Amino acid sequence: MKTMGLIGGMSWESTVTYYQIINRVIQEKLGGFHSARCLLYSVDFHEIEACQSSGDWEKCAAILAEAAQRLEQAGADFIVICTNTMHKVAPQVQAAVSVPILHIAEATAQELRKSHIHKVGLLGTIYTMEQDFYKAKLQEAGIDILIPEKEDRHTVNHIIFQELCLGIIADPSKQALLAIIDKLAKQGAQGIVLGCTEIGLLVKQQDMPFLCLIQP
Ligand code: GLU
Repeated sequence: MKTMGLIGGMSWESTVTYYQIINRVIQEKLGGFHSARCLLYSVDFHEIEACQSSGDWEKCAAILAEAAQRLEQAGADFIVICTNTMHKVAPQVQAAVSVPILHIAEATAQELRKSHIHKVGLLGTIYTMEQDFYKAKLQEAGIDILIPEKEDRHTVNHIIFQELCLGIIADPSKQALLAIIDKLAKQGAQGIVLGCTEIGLLVKQQDMPFLCLIQP
């Protein structure tokens, strides 16, 4: 089994989910007492969020590049960055190590193609929904992307940073996200990419049985 290096803590609430799902999948596939060989470098999200807000992406890149180097030195065969947003600096992180970084949007595009989904609604942070670093990977794979209207984008971003990243799970916010998802479905989305690792804490496939939810 290869050793996976996880750059987590963005936020730690969603890194918990990564650890659970990775181990469950390994156990399902290998049976017995098997569990994942993995290394976790969990950053201080307060520092990351401050850099994001001030637009200091170079500092974000430096923090994640150092984390990746430490994982490589500790024996990771490959690395995943446990957040969509921070893939904005994935090229700089990849340049700092010789092991591969598995890109979250490339993995998402593969899943979409397997499911024959060509048009998706994308929910995530303002950075992920409005900038190109994530959307371009899906578009290169021939997938059309719908994003929520401006006010709804701010609602989604607020729920992510002011609630989910702090471990707050609130039903009114779930209803607000479901209403936004419904609007995207009415515009023709065949599936919804939960392009933020915390959104799955609030919205699950069973909440939208008639629409495919893709949680990278
Ligand atoms: N975990 C989130 C994501 O997947 C947002 C937090 C962050 O800015 O990294 O984008």
